[in-house]
Formats: sequence, C-alpha cells, structure tokens
Amino acid sequence: MRVLVYGDGQLAQMLNLAGVPLGIDVAAVNVKDHSIVNPVDKAPRTESLKQAITDAKALTVEFEHVPVGLLEDADASGKLHPSFTAIRIGADRVLEKRFLERLQIPNCRHQIITEHSQLDNIVAELGEKVIIKASLDGYDGYGQWRLKAASQLPELKAQLADLDLGAVPLIAEQMVSFERELSLIGARNAQGQVNFYPLAENRHHEGQLHVSVAPAPKLTEELTQQAQQIFTTIVEDLDYVGVLAVEMFQIGERLIVNELAPRVHNSGHWSIHGAETSQFENQLRAVLNLPLGDMSAHSVSAMVNIIGCGSIAKEVLAVPGCHLHWYGKTVRAKRKMGHINVVAESYAQLAQRLDELAGLLPLEFFPVLEDEAQRLA
Ligand code: ATP
Ligand code: MG
Ligand code: MG
Repeated sequence: MRVLVYGDGQLAQMLNLAGVPLGIDVAAVNVKDHSIVNPVDKAPRTESLKQAITDAKALTVEFEHVPVGLLEDADASGKLHPSFTAIRIGADRVLEKRFLERLQIPNCRHQIITEHSQLDNIVAELGEKVIIKASLDGYDGYGQWRLKAASQLPELKAQLADLDLGAVPLIAEQMVSFERELSLIGARNAQGQVNFYPLAENRHHEGQLHVSVAPAPKLTEELTQQAQQIFTTIVEDLDYVGVLAVEMFQIGERLIVNELAPRVHNSGHWSIHGAETSQFENQLRAVLNLPLGDMSAHSVSAMVNIIGCGSIAKEVLAVPGCHLHWYGKTVRAKRKMGHINVVAESYAQLAQRLDELAGLLPLEFFPVLEDEAQRLA
C-alpha cells in the first residue's frame, strides 16, 4: 500500500518510518522539481509524478505551502486527504482568518491589509503592539514583522513598501499577551471517527518552536473541552480527513486560535515515544481510512528541537528516557536539524532529565531549556 506525500522534509521522513511496520510505503514528492523520492534518504525513485499518483492509495501533504497547481492535480485524483480546501486554508492566512470568523472561533483581533494606506490605521484599530504576517509562505516566524510602539510605524511601512499587497495581502494582528501557547493535535478518518492527543504546551523563542511538553502541565478539564470543541467544529465543517494541529494561546482560562496546520506538527513529535500511537502512524491510518490508534499519553514527555546545531554530545543518549532523531539535513542557522524526545514518569522526573540534558548541550542553541527544566520542577 502506497501513500504519496507532497513535501520531502522531516515530516515525510517520519511518516515513512511509521509506515514500515504497517506495510505502508510512503513516497515523497519534491515540490520544486516534481520528482519522487524516498523520504528517508531522498534517493530518487524512477517513476513519474503521474504514475506515483496513480499507484498511491492516498495522497497527503507534509507542509501546506504546496504550489496550487500541484495541489489541484493531486485533488483531481480524488485521493487527496485532507481536502484541497483544508490545505489551502492552512496555507493562506486570509482564508484561514475568514474561515475562523465564519465558524465564530475565537482568534486574534486582526485586519486584512490589501493596501498600504490601511497600515496608517493599525495602531488605532489594534493598539501599539502589532504583529504583521505575510498571508502566504510563512513558517517558523519567517515573513513576520513586529510593531512594538506607534513611533516605529513609519519604519515598518518603509520595510513593507515594496510588497504588492493587492496580490499577497498582509494580516495585521494584535499582539496578545498570553499565559502560554498550547496546541491540540487530533485526527479524523472518513468514517467521522475523531481522536485527540492531550494538549501540548509549546515554548517558542523568536517565533520558532523550541520545546513542547505533553500533556501540558496544569490542564483543566475545561481547557481540554474548549480545545476539543474548537477542533471538532473545524473538522466537521471541512469534512476533514487526516491529522490536524490547532495552535492556540491561553488567555486566563480562555483559548484563542493562532493558526491551523493541516498535517502532522512539530508539537506532536513527542507522540513517537510518549503516546500509544504516534501522530505519524495516525496520519497514515486516517488517510487510508483505517481505525485510528489510541492517542493517550503513557508518560509525560518533552520534545526539544535541535535548531541550527549540527552535532551534540553522544552522552545525551545516556540520559534516561532520551531519544534522539536527526533529520539528515545540512546545518544552517535557525534550521530544524532534529529533535530529542524525553519521556518520564512525572513532571519532576522530566524536569530532572531536562536539566541533565541542559548540562550536556551547547546552550546557545537551546535558549529555553534550562528555564523549562526549572519551570517543571
Ligand atoms: P509555524 O512554524 O508555527 O507555522 P508561523 O511562521 O506560521 O509559525 P505563527 O505561528 O503565526 O507563525 O507565529 C509564530 C509565533 O509567534 C507564535 O507561536 C507565537 O509565539 C508568536 N505570535 C504569533 N502571533 C502572535 C500574536 N498575535 N500575539 C502574540 N504572539 C504571537
Ligand atoms: Mg504556521
Ligand atoms: Mg505557528
């Protein structure tokens, strides 16, 4: 059985690894040259994209920014999950905001900016602290500009002056001061079965995810209910099939949605070692209309991203509960190179293990690790 994934990065790699024991072959499409590759080592496979589409039982994506033409061809096969619409909503912040508004799902106060003159009103509309996001192609905090005081507006406008906002609008969002960031990952299959992982708590630094902890500490039944309600509203409206990640901000006891990822998500990597069934296996199960696997956590876990760092001390492997995963990429500043999953029996034990890790890792690449260890202790 073959699943074809658009995108050949680490998420495709982990989908492939999850498929092997189930007898599912995951092949990847390089979306730049349309070649078919093995997602683990990027070795080319000889077939054409057309043949690969025909041979696959299901088609899916590992990132939302797939060129629209390619996505239309995938959709024409009738085997694309989640749907063309769901993927486009995840890829285009204008569609995403309109979608959330239509379903009356709480999200950040925002304005869609299609003309430069609208920028003059953002402080009046949204306040002095504003985050501007390109509507297309953003990830890991790229394509974002921050306004921290009204006096910076002329400078910000000058930086944005060359953009064709009629073609690609911007979203101006009120900067919210949140308690913490949470994400809910779950899946729905074509039968309408929906399962959820526990909420994860996500720690970002400079717009990039560094550490996730799952289940998030101090979860209340009410928070979980709110998140699951939001998730269910979304997947039912879209007749969604596959894994979906909903990124949220917690403000008091209230959740508001930051953005949606129509795919497996970095804040779900912990599930490889900390849950009964990983998000990668569940994505394959969902798109192939197989029964979904149990998503409960059997441990408490942390996932630590390895960002911009090409090697780490082998002693990391001796820390109890630690599992290392390299993605096989060439090192570049700010690039996600791999991750470390840490499982434990309690938050206190997890804190201890993170602290032990912090003693072994080059901390310039792991700026929040010590703080996370202290917070969990
Ligand atoms: P991802 O890699 O998650 O796809 P992205 O580039 O799509 O990232 P966002 O998730 O929109 O970007 O923003 C990145 C991070 O910036 C958020 O996780 C959050 O920490 C911060 N951020 C974004 N929007 C806001 C906001 N309105 N108020 C406060 N912080 C924000
Ligand atoms: Mg995003
Ligand atoms: Mg995000």
